[in-house]
Amino acid sequence: MVDNAAWTKKLSQRVMQLGGSATLQVSKQAAQLRQQGHRVVDLGVGEPSCPTPSCILSAAMQALQQSDISHYTAAAGLPDLLTALQQKLARDQGLQYNTSQLLVTPGAKAALSLTFDTLLQPGDEVILFAPYWTSYKALVQLAGATPVVVPTHAQDGYLPNMQALQQALSDKTKVVLINSPANPSGALWSKQRLQQLWQLLQQRPVWVVSDEIYSRFVFDGLEYVSPASLSREAYERTVVIDGVSKTYAMTGWRIGCVAASDYVISHMLKLHSQRFTCATALAQYAASFALSEGRQVAQAVQQMRQNYQRRRDTLLPQIKQLPHIGCSTPQGAFYLLLDISAYIGRSYGNITIADDVTFCQQLLQQQHVATVAGSAFGTPGTVRLSFAADDAQLGEGIARIKTWLRQLH
Ligand code: PLP
Repeated sequence: MVDNAAWTKKLSQRVMQLGGSATLQVSKQAAQLRQQGHRVVDLGVGEPSCPTPSCILSAAMQALQQSDISHYTAAAGLPDLLTALQQKLARDQGLQYNTSQLLVTPGAKAALSLTFDTLLQPGDEVILFAPYWTSYKALVQLAGATPVVVPTHAQDGYLPNMQALQQALSDKTKVVLINSPANPSGALWSKQRLQQLWQLLQQRPVWVVSDEIYSRFVFDGLEYVSPASLSREAYERTVVIDGVSKTYAMTGWRIGCVAASDYVISHMLKLHSQRFTCATALAQYAASFALSEGRQVAQAVQQMRQNYQRRRDTLLPQIKQLPHIGCSTPQGAFYLLLDISAYIGRSYGNITIADDVTFCQQLLQQQHVATVAGSAFGTPGTVRLSFAADDAQLGEGIARIKTWLRQLH
């Protein structure tokens, strides 16, 4: 008989200390409730509810029949995909790269993990702005570095105060991480704010890691500006993370990418080839078609962006009518971050809503609405709703949240 407790002690401490993904945990609980026959409204999941556009599926079908998808590809990615990516970064973000500066990875999460492992040493510090996407912290810690969290506030649209950033910078700071538009706040960094950032970083040997995965979903005609686009120096010091998951509704295909200086990519490539060999060949063909963005794909992306903006505009007034709930207006991505702090300390029967985690757990158990507790993003007292869910689910979800709030005393 194996003594599990004794063997558990022999596992890696790094992994033992790691928390699981909060968002995937919510999806699992929602799936369990569904299996028990409940009609769950899932506003927790951070992925488009629509399928991958059919023209991309057809391109993948064609690749399945006509291309060599049985073998490893070049570690950095298929040449056609690298060219499509090169064109995409120039077209959408105004960034010019050689294909030797690009690396295709199994999802943007892998791109981030390779980036941190390439840039960071134990003892280094990484600045994260809270609310931050839940995996950043874990990935930084796995790379042996220390996350330093700089809070941002709803009244500032969750955009950082440069003084707070200045105070957080130290001799150990190696990376400042920017995610614009942000998951979960939807905050968008303007050109002016990015200029302020670079001014602050001017005399410091600090990298900017820019997660641009939501850059196509910007609302109200606002402009997306990449931190890498501001100057030659900014370009050389920025590592850009991107991917197809959100823009083309391709989360299941697992294709992400990194764009950076040649020498960063050449070292990262060693790590990537040892760890992953390459991204899945078939998914690379599909991503190549998506990123080339012919008319049909461009229309599909445009449609998604319009849908997200319309849903945001429909939902916000409904949420503002919910008693004692605050919510700032996201300028991009597809999330709303609700301030539920007024409900903390209230009760439902004999259950006290001690924090945002209990709030979300009870909302899921009592009303079968899945959301993610803000604690997972470094902002306790908040709850994230995803409006990548379809209209019917959103309408039903808000109605159930309203019912739930009325029951909290
Ligand atoms: N970056 C951000 C900000 C995200 O929200 C996500 C997914 O939710 C990712 C990266 C990961 O993307 P991928 O599914 O390509 O790994």
